[in-house]
Amino acid sequence: MREIDVNEVTALVSRLFQEANFLLPADVIESLQAALAREESPLGRDVLEALLKNAGIAARERVPLCQDTGLAAVFAEVGQEVHFSGGSFVAAVDRGVAAAQAEGYLRASVVSGACFERANTGDNTPAVLHTELVAGDRVNITVLPKGGGSENMSRLAMLKPADGVEGIINFVLETVGLAGANPCPPIFLGVGIGGTMDRAALLSKQALLRPAGSPSADGRLAQLEADLLEKVNALGIGPGGFGGTVTCLGVAIEEYPCHIASLPVAVNIQCNSARRAAGSL
Ligand code: SF4
Repeated sequence: MREIDVNEVTALVSRLFQEANFLLPADVIESLQAALAREESPLGRDVLEALLKNAGIAARERVPLCQDTGLAAVFAEVGQEVHFSGGSFVAAVDRGVAAAQAEGYLRASVVSGACFERANTGDNTPAVLHTELVAGDRVNITVLPKGGGSENMSRLAMLKPADGVEGIINFVLETVGLAGANPCPPIFLGVGIGGTMDRAALLSKQALLRPAGSPSADGRLAQLEADLLEKVNALGIGPGGFGGTVTCLGVAIEEYPCHIASLPVAVNIQCNSARRAAGSL
């Protein structure tokens, strides 16, 4: 059994949230650069150039990539041979989120009493924490600060099995079409297929953790990702929603077995500020 002090968890989460908010991942930068090379709309190219310039300034000056510094989605893989000492793991993660907000001057974007009070918690807590027990004695943490503009445009459908692949494609295209400029395109799409309603939603967010340009290991899903990318880009929404050939930079699909009567499909839209960071203990 390996012992890990929860203060190490707090320090790691704080560092990762600041890193994610200041440094756009290299694969996202490369996707934006590739989009700039192929975008046909002059206005679209202007938007892409501005996004790349913005990413450079954020990295140089350690300022947030966007004013919406996101809700703290945290994915933790915890080795089953780990014992946490010094308190609660969940509380340690929240302390890390709060520390990042304070030290990194990140916007406080979370309200409690979502239905009635909607009072700002003041420190971006609580995180939305997904914990998975895995083999070994390591802890891997990935953070995904999720902007409200893109999260709001995400959708879930409980399709019928008879709707098939065509139904999935239509739902994804409908979702992106309804979203229009709201999720700050060019976007990334995480698609979760199968499981239950809640599992499909989780899969769609986990799909956003895959580096841009890394297709599914399943050949048929990889082909579906490529087909969806082409069809979404044919919608012509373009960078910033000003029209153009690049609406989407990547589609990632994650799949899980489901009930014989079900075909859950979730689409989690990620904006151009596709922030994430990962680290281990
Ligand atoms: S959707 Fe993304 S780019 Fe748009 S305001 Fe929110 S965080 Fe920023």
